[in-house]
This record gives sequence, C-alpha cells and structure tokens, in this order.
Amino acid sequence: MSVLDDARALDGAGPVCDACLGRVFADRSFGLTNAERGRSLRVAAALADDEPFEPVTEECWVCEGECARFDAWAERAVNAVEGVEFETYQVGTRTPPLVEENELLLREEAGLAADAGELFKSEFNREVGKRVGRLTETEVEFGRPDVQFLLDIEEGRVEATVNSAFVYGRYRKLERDIPQTEWPCGRCDGRGVLGESRECPQCDGTGYLYQASVEGLVAPPIREAMEGSEATFHGAGREDVDARMLGTGRPFVVEVREPKRRTVNVEPLERVVNDHAEGRVEVEGLRLATYEMVERVKELDASKRYRAEVEFDSSISQDALRAALSDLEGAIIEQYTPQRVDHRRANLTRTREVYEAAGEWEDETHATVEFHGQGGLYIKELVSGDDGRTEPSLAGLLGVGAEVTALDVVGVYGESEAFEDEAYFRDERRTDADEAEPEAVAETDE
Ligand SMILES: [Zn+2]
Ligand SMILES: [Zn+2]
Repeated sequence: MSVLDDARALDGAGPVCDACLGRVFADRSFGLTNAERGRSLRVAAALADDEPFEPVTEECWVCEGECARFDAWAERAVNAVEGVEFETYQVGTRTPPLVEENELLLREEAGLAADAGELFKSEFNREVGKRVGRLTETEVEFGRPDVQFLLDIEEGRVEATVNSAFVYGRYRKLERDIPQTEWPCGRCDGRGVLGESRECPQCDGTGYLYQASVEGLVAPPIREAMEGSEATFHGAGREDVDARMLGTGRPFVVEVREPKRRTVNVEPLERVVNDHAEGRVEVEGLRLATYEMVERVKELDASKRYRAEVEFDSSISQDALRAALSDLEGAIIEQYTPQRVDHRRANLTRTREVYEAAGEWEDETHATVEFHGQGGLYIKELVSGDDGRTEPSLAGLLGVGAEVTALDVVGVYGESEAFEDEAYFRDERRTDADEAEPEAVAETDE
C-alpha cells in the first residue's frame, strides 16, 4: 500500500483532523508540521483520484478537536506562570486515555502498526512548546528548565512547576557558637513547647538550640531578592559550631524554591546579605549558579586550612614545638573516630594527610598553630591525640597534654580543582579587573 492508500484508509473511519492524519506519517519528510502532512496527503489523494477536495470541518474523533487548540493551550501555559521570570522551559502532556485508545483504533482500522508515526503527546509538547517560546521569548531546555508545564488535556488545565534558582558564594563566620544550618531544639523537636503548652526550658520556647545560624543570616535576603517561597543552605562541609570560618571563606549554595526572579544583580545582593548578617557572617563572590553547583559544593573533595590556639599542660620549648610541627608536615595521620563525634556514626580508623604544619610559640604553655590538611582530618584530635586514638599527634610528639582552646578554619580549597568553575555559573564573569577598576566599566544609558 502507498502512503496515499494509507491516508485514504485513515480518512475512511470518520472525520480526522489534518494533524491527527499527518501524525501517523510523522517520520516521513522533514520541515513539515503534522497538520501540513495531513492536509497535503488529502490534497494529493484528491488530485490522484480527480475528486473534489473537501477540508474536514467536523470535530476530529481522534483528538476530539484538541489539535486545533494549540494556541489556546500555549496561552493557558503562559498564564500559569504570570509574573514569573524564566529563560528556559519544557512542556509535557498528559494524554487522556480516550485519545490514546483512539490513536490505536485509527491505526488499527487502516491496518497500520500501532506505533506508526508519533504519539499525540509528542506533537502536543512540540506544538504548544513552540508557541510558548514565541509568546515568552524563552527557549526549550530538555535537561533542567526554569519552568516545566504539564498540559492536563482532560482537566483542561496547565500545571506549572517553577524550578529552584541557585546562588553560589563563600561565607566567613566571624563569631563562634553559630551553627551553619538552623539547629532545632532536640528536647521539644523545634516546637518550643513541651506537652500541650509548657515552654521548653532548653530553648526558652524558641524551638532552636542556637538563635542564629549561617543559614538564617544568609539565606532569607537571597530568598527575598528572588521572591522565592523557601530557601535552603548547602555548604561545602561545615566547621564546628565553636569554630570561626575566616580567611577566604567556605563555598556554599543557597537554593531558592519557586523563585519569581532569577536574574538578580549579585553585587547589591551581596551588600544586602552582609547588612542583614550584621557582621556576624560575611559573604563574598556571589554568583548565579546552576543546579549542578549544589552537588559540586557537597561532593568536591576539599582540603582545609586551620588556625588553632593550643594550651599545653607542661612547659615546652620553642625548639620542641618547631621539631614536632616539622614531623607533622607531610605525615599520614591515623584517626580512630573521635570520642566527641556522634556515637551513631560507625567507628573506623581513617588516614588523612597533613600537607603543611606551622606555628608560633607564644610562651611555654601556649602556641598558635596552623595546619593545612586533607578533607576529613580532625584537628582538635591531631593536637590532643584523643587518648591515643589519633596517631601521630602534636601532644604525642611533644610528650605533654595539648588542647585546642580556639579553632578557626581559614581556607577551604578544592583538592583537584577550584570550586569556582565558569561552567557552573549562569551570570557573566566578574573579572578581577572589574573589581579593581570599577570606573573602567562602561556606563549604560539607563
Ligand atoms: Zn485530531
Ligand atoms: Zn526546645
């Protein structure tokens, strides 16, 4: 049978619209819509048979007329995200079961394969998608678009999902006793009350063990700027609650859910965040990031640089300190899970390298030491020895007791490559030259 014979057979079963007819031949030729294919086949059959050409005017029994409503569906989609800024989108279609059955019936009646041509939903996704793109001047993206539309044909409505937006940066925590993320009170499960109404004595009814967190100081202004519904903080590891994070800071990503705005200007945003954090936390290098940046900050192996104030329980000399630190530089440390670490965590011995060790002798019982070590190295135990569970250690090498009295993280660096990779950013690159010479930046006429 020829294509024209097939077309005649398909047309025989009742009124079929051009799109539904053409869709059966979707894999033939390029640069045509299915409606064009359908109409052309009808024209060609009329010419071949020398019969009058009759366009279909009755409602199509296969799609029940939906293929004539691509424009209306596109408008519905656009209305579903009114007021939402986006650059990329994807359209999906929920095909009514009846239309699915009709598609099979249509092909069966003409003796064609059940999967001849393409599916109703493929055509709908593409045709409505093209129109959405034209109406909003945005682009289709099959990976992770800014918004996703689901056309529910049977219900006559469009469900729109606005995907999260991401802001990358580095933070410094300038005060101790601030956890990285919000820490709900364990006694009352963050409810602030015990039983019906008794104020929780542990958290004074606040529901939080610590009243401030890096997350709480940084994420809300970013959520507000992007007009999102919620914000989540993802850090590249975390320092102890009682440790400061200084130096070049720690990479993080704030994820903003259901943002209405995505292309915020990060420089003013940085100032707003820093005002909000009131000097307790500081951020820098904010950039609009891709979804993949969350995994990158969480998974990229990172080394850390620490500064620790150390107290010894007996006198040590300057020379002894220098010798011990020199022994630790380049050493492979065996650490059995520290006693202070959560007991639910599996106990194991891990080995970690100390890349650099240096220090300043203050007096016979005090020193400030600096270690640059592989990710996962426990510094408090590297100093104290943790009752022999960490080997070698500063205390062990010196033969005295040693305790960290104050700890700061001063650098977090990707082991194999820097966290900041342009492929993970959505905004334009800010070069050092831009920062050094702001007057050199071209003025706009706005
Ligand atoms: Zn149809
Ligand atoms: Zn509580």
